Amino acid sequence: MSSETRFGAYEPVIGIEIHVQLQTRSKMFCTDSTAFASGDNECVCEVCTGMPGALPTVNRTAIEYAVKTGLALGCSIREKSVFSRKQYFYPDLPKGYQISQFDLPLCENGRVEFVYNGSKKSIEIIRAHVEEDAGKSTHQGDCSLINLNRASVPLLEIVSGPDLRGPEEAAEYARTVHKMVQYLEVCDGNLEEGSFRCDCNVSVRKRGETKLNTRVEIKNINSFRFVEKAIEYEILRQIDAMESGEKIRQETRLYDPDKNRTFAMRSKEEAHDYRYFPDPDLLPLVLTKAEIESMRAKLPEMPLARAARFQSEYKLPEYDSQVLTAEKDLADYFEKVVSASGNAKAASNWVMTELLRELNDSKKTVSQSPIPAERLGQMIALIDKGTISGKIAKTVFAEMWTSGKAPEVIVQEKGLVQITDTSAIEKSIDEVLAANPKELADYRGGKEKLFGFFVGQVMKATKGQASPDMVNQMLKAKLKG
Ligand SMILES: [Zn+2]
Repeated sequence: MSSETRFGAYEPVIGIEIHVQLQTRSKMFCTDSTAFASGDNECVCEVCTGMPGALPTVNRTAIEYAVKTGLALGCSIREKSVFSRKQYFYPDLPKGYQISQFDLPLCENGRVEFVYNGSKKSIEIIRAHVEEDAGKSTHQGDCSLINLNRASVPLLEIVSGPDLRGPEEAAEYARTVHKMVQYLEVCDGNLEEGSFRCDCNVSVRKRGETKLNTRVEIKNINSFRFVEKAIEYEILRQIDAMESGEKIRQETRLYDPDKNRTFAMRSKEEAHDYRYFPDPDLLPLVLTKAEIESMRAKLPEMPLARAARFQSEYKLPEYDSQVLTAEKDLADYFEKVVSASGNAKAASNWVMTELLRELNDSKKTVSQSPIPAERLGQMIALIDKGTISGKIAKTVFAEMWTSGKAPEVIVQEKGLVQITDTSAIEKSIDEVLAANPKELADYRGGKEKLFGFFVGQVMKATKGQASPDMVNQMLKAKLKG
C-alpha cells in the first residue's frame, strides 16, 4: 500500500541525517589507524584522547573524500570552512567536545535524485559537514568499558531537507546515498560495523497543511529495513497521539528492532546547549577553486548515470540496468564480461541469473566470485561460436565455479564440445526412432506434440552435446520421410 492511502488524512514529513565514515587509513585529526578490528584502545594517542597541549592536524584525504561526496551530491563547496567545537560531556568523548562544523560547513545546497516506484524523486541536501566520531562504551552489569579506537575517526554528516514522504521512500533515499559513497570509494558502506548510519527526523501533519509540526529524531539506525520499520512505527505512533489530542514532544528516540518500536531516549528539555565556537587549534580550512575543480574532474560515473548508459549502450531493460548497477563492483564485473564476450544481452543474463544466484547461495560478494569476469565472457563467446550449447554452458559454469579452471580447459578435459557432425546426429536420431516405434507411429498418426519427446531423447543420447538447432532441423526432415 502506498503511504498516501496507508496514512489516511495524515502526511508524514521525513528528513534524514546520514553519518558516513570516510575510509581513510588514519583518523581525522591525528595519525592513529582507523582499522576496525584492532584491539581495545590500541589506536589512541594524546590528540584523540584530548591530552592538554596536544594539537590536531587535518587529514587531507578525509577532506578530499568529503569534497568528492559533496560534489556528487550536487553541493556547492565552501572555499573557506571552519571547524568548531561542539561541547558536551560524554564518557567516551574525553576531550569534552567534538570537533565538527557548525555555521560554515564544507558542503551545502545540494540535491540527490533517485527513482522510486517508477518516478524520479529529488531530495534537497541542506549540508554535508566533516566531523569526528566519539569512542564506544560497553556496559557490563555495573561496570562500563570505554574503547577509544573510534574516537576521532572521520565522518561526513549529510543532512537532507524534510522532503521524504513515506518510510519506503526514505529507505530508498538512504540506499541511494549508500550506493553513491561506495561508487565514490570514500566509504566501505559496512552497515554492521557502523560505517553508514542514519538518524531519521519524523513528523506528521494533516494532508494539505504546509507548516512543519514538532519532529522526533530516531537515532543511529544501521539497516535500511530498520529505517523503514522505525519510521513506519513512528508515523503511526504520532498519528495515534494526534488523534487522541496528545501533544507530540520534541525528543530523541531509539528503535528496538526486536520489539519493532521506538522509545524515548532524551527529551528536548534535557537537550544540550552545545555552545559551538571555532576551534582555536585549527585554522579555517581553505580550498582553492582549482583544487575543487580538479576533484570534480576526478568524479567517477555515478549509479543513476551508469544505469542510463547501460540502457542506451547495451540496450538493456531498465530493470536489468538497475540490478547491474546496484553495486559498483557488480557493474564493473558486468562490463568486463561484455568486453570479453562481445554480447551484452547474454552477459546480463548470465550475470543476473547464474552468477547472482551462486553468489547469493554461497554468501559471497561479487569481488569474491571464483569465476573472474573475463572467463565468464570467454564462456559466452564459446556459446556464440557454437563450440558449446547453452545447455552445456551451464555444466561449464558449474565447473568453473568449483574448479576455477578456464572454460576452454573444461570443455577439452570433459569432452564437452558441441556435436555438429551431421552423421553422428543422424545416427542418434535413427537409434531413437528405432527404439520408440509406438511414439513414432503416434506421431505419424497426428500426435505432433511428440516432436519435443524425440528432441529430448536425442539430446539425452548425446549427453546434451548435440547442437539443438541441428537436431531440430534433422529430426523434422526424418519424421516427414
Ligand atoms: Zn590519535
